[in-house]
Amino acid sequence: MLEMSKVLGWARIWAAIRPPHSRSLRAGAWYPVVRDEIPDRVTILMGEREIDAPRRLFEIRPRRPMHFTVVRRVGYQARPRRESLHQLGKHYAVCPTCQWRFRLIGTPEMTHCPHCGHIAQVGWWE
Ligand SMILES: [Zn+2]
Repeated sequence: MLEMSKVLGWARIWAAIRPPHSRSLRAGAWYPVVRDEIPDRVTILMGEREIDAPRRLFEIRPRRPMHFTVVRRVGYQARPRRESLHQLGKHYAVCPTCQWRFRLIGTPEMTHCPHCGHIAQVGWWE
């Protein structure tokens, strides 16, 4: 279990960053920063794993924002047989508290997470 006293900040991968760097990191999700001592490097917690990564990959904030991140899928094409994320559609929301991903129907101002029930604004402005 994450001890909040160890959290130095919150990191989200920049939307413009593409794999391979971000392959294991979920787009739009906020990860706790647990170490921040080396210039240009930062250590984040992904589940139970600590991951050391270049700082430039991340947007870092002192507090975790509570709105939903919108992930826009550049070059998205419906390929139901080939794409496991197909059901998420062209853009989807990521829950700031549990990191659940879900499809957005229309462009709602507010939504709730079907996984944990978190209710907040949808960050269309980002
Ligand atoms: Zn949630």
